[in-house]
Amino acid sequence: MPYAHKVTPGKKAKLGDYSPNADDGLNKDEGKKRFAKLNAELDLMQEELYAAGKHSVLLVLQGMDTSGKDGTIRSVLLNLNPQGVRVESFKVPTEEELAHDFLWRIHKVTPRKGEFGVFNRSHYEDVLVVRVHELVSKDVWKARYEQINQFEALLAASGTIIIKAFLHISQDEQEKRLLEREQDVTKAWKLSAGDWRERGYWDAYMEAYEDALTRCSTDIAPWYIIPANKKWFRNLAVSEVLVDILRGYRDTWHETLDAMSKARLTELQEYRASLAKPAK
Ligand code: AMP
Ligand code: MG
Repeated sequence: MPYAHKVTPGKKAKLGDYSPNADDGLNKDEGKKRFAKLNAELDLMQEELYAAGKHSVLLVLQGMDTSGKDGTIRSVLLNLNPQGVRVESFKVPTEEELAHDFLWRIHKVTPRKGEFGVFNRSHYEDVLVVRVHELVSKDVWKARYEQINQFEALLAASGTIIIKAFLHISQDEQEKRLLEREQDVTKAWKLSAGDWRERGYWDAYMEAYEDALTRCSTDIAPWYIIPANKKWFRNLAVSEVLVDILRGYRDTWHETLDAMSKARLTELQEYRASLAKPAK
């Protein structure tokens, strides 16, 4: 059984069916060992992705405050070559961003071929926070699920491998993490009264997440529910999904890289041969 739960396209995602506490019976040490192995493989695959330049990867991270989006980025991307990684965080839209369609700021920063892109929050905020706080009318946010699917289909058609992860924590775990931040003066900079305020809308967020996961899990851009109460398991589950999916592309990348190697070697041989010939 994979550690993460793929949301089957067309099926209703029910978050209550998945325990945020899951650890598949592993202990932390074993989990960390498995994670290290997967990470080493991810490292190799990133090099191939980059060199082959045929695809881009887009990992979308969503989750409630304190669900570990930043921590996942730090741990899972730790060994990757920063030259090929692009991390984008999406905050409250600026005036300029709001004066455009909601995908404008997103499309501009999608990863180019060869790049490993990560979205820390994403266009999904436009059917999450925006829906929960009624920042636009219902007609407007309702139309967005299909618009998102079309947008992601466009990205996929031009070679983007899209992987979407919902970091699933429990309400209790969130409270624990928020309180921990308060106790540790060195972490207090992370605090925000807004986090407590948003917490009050927990149920509305869960409903909005279930809809987003249900309507926007597609074959080309599936959603994965990641049990995230245990940080080490969350990291393991995210890297397993990534490695699993990217493995499916390795043959294509190897073919491209082999062809590139042959072409480069031939070029070099021809160059050497041209040096050996007497100049006319
Ligand atoms: P953080 O991730 O803690 O830095 O917070 C970013 C904040 O920006 C969160 O409260 C998000 O809900 C908010 N945000 C991100 N995208 C949007 C959006 N499209 N509309 C409104 N708020 C957003
Ligand atoms: Mg926050």
